Amino acid sequence: MSVIDEVIEKVKRTDPDQNEFHQAVIEVLETLAPTVEKHPEFVNAGIYERIVEPERAVIFRVPWVDDKGEVQVNRGFRVQFNNAIGPFKGGIRFHPSVNLSIIKFLGFEQIFKNSLTTLPMGGGKGGSDFDPKGKSDGEVMRFCQAFMRELCRHIGAETDVPAGDIGVGAREIGYLFGYYKKIRNEHTGVLTGKGLDYGGSLVRPEATGYGTVYFAAEMLATRGLDFKDKTVAVSGAGNVAQFAIEKVNQMGGRVISACDSTATVIDEQGIDDDKCCYLMELKNIHRGRVNEYADKYKTVCYEDKNVWDVIREQGIKVDIALPCATQNEIDAENAEALVKNGCICVAEGANMPSSPAAVKVFQENNLLYGPGKAVNAGGVATSGLEMSQNSQKLSWTREEVDSRLLLIMKSIHQSCLDAAEAYGKKGDYLMGANIAGFTKVANAMLAYGVV
Ligand code: NDP
Repeated sequence: MSVIDEVIEKVKRTDPDQNEFHQAVIEVLETLAPTVEKHPEFVNAGIYERIVEPERAVIFRVPWVDDKGEVQVNRGFRVQFNNAIGPFKGGIRFHPSVNLSIIKFLGFEQIFKNSLTTLPMGGGKGGSDFDPKGKSDGEVMRFCQAFMRELCRHIGAETDVPAGDIGVGAREIGYLFGYYKKIRNEHTGVLTGKGLDYGGSLVRPEATGYGTVYFAAEMLATRGLDFKDKTVAVSGAGNVAQFAIEKVNQMGGRVISACDSTATVIDEQGIDDDKCCYLMELKNIHRGRVNEYADKYKTVCYEDKNVWDVIREQGIKVDIALPCATQNEIDAENAEALVKNGCICVAEGANMPSSPAAVKVFQENNLLYGPGKAVNAGGVATSGLEMSQNSQKLSWTREEVDSRLLLIMKSIHQSCLDAAEAYGKKGDYLMGANIAGFTKVANAMLAYGVV
């Protein structure tokens, strides 16, 4: 049995119920097989065994009081996965589905993503099964304060620097940072995604969505193509989706879809700039549902279906797919439908949105397939730029941050292509991203000895 198979078997045996984590480990390790032969020193130092084991995982009680005065209890998590190349870094997710398996999968992916950005950041992730939907601002604030009361012991500007993710946007980061500042009596860059007035970076809100489109544009360019006049399907209606739509519009494409966890809207005319502004206001300020978009613009709305189901069932033609909602949103059947409907490029704004079988369909049909850890790395890269600005006590201009983001996305794209080619799989972005991200971290781990 190869060392890769042994490690995968051990992960499954040790934590048999962590399906999402298994999926992420298998996806990464299987593509790392060629590194085993090239780097016997990694095998001898137990790098493959060590990289799948978090440095530590903290699970904690989060008690808080709701608007009725009743005590509620949620569970909090912070998984500090790997700090070989920099402080732990990765977002916080508030969603009822959050459990240790999901946080471990996200933290594991984050190691390679952060390494790809070329910035000195390790990998981590955190969250809670708290659902901000339907809660008042006061309830969200009290929850965030209770969450930070415990989290603050484990994080720090040089130790572990969380950011947002699903369910954690500007409002939540404000409450979390405000409480950290209060109880630690320090104003440092301990969280990223902060508001502009208190240490945030310009372009951080836009960065994941913009970076996704920059990466997709690089992939398209390898085949002499671009976004102009292309029909683009976007899923989600949150932070990543909103700014992906905005950037596709700037590049001349037409986005025909968005969704939330309750419905999908299809707008064949395109979600133009005005409609995108409305969507942002609807989701970020009114915290409404996408069916209100359908009511306002008289478009079709499919309740209880995601974008990819609708595209398959309605046979909608799509050139480019940008899944920006959540993990495993595209299954093999929907992937086959995308291929049949003419899709040429899938760039993952979300983390692991395509199931392993869906990825296989994309690769077998020679689509341009960009995995989340490379495509959506612009968010954490810009968080890294926020950390640099915080330590320098400076704020860079919008143009400076955006041009650095573009350069980073181009460099990640090139690293993926170079690594894939060096290991004999030209054009395989998945293998390229995994190997390029892994090699740097593995070399650092090797240098430290067995720690
Ligand atoms: P948000 O919470 O801002 O938005 C998520 C969107 O996806 C919401 O519209 C949500 O619907 C929708 N959604 C969630 N679950 C489902 C589901 N099961 N079916 C259909 N729609 C669903 O999160 P983000 O935009 O920040 O994150 C989206 C993805 O991008 C995640 O995978 C995240 O890990 C990844 N990512 C985010 C980064 C960031 O900087 N924010 C960085 C890198 C990756 P509803 O409104 O109903 O909740």
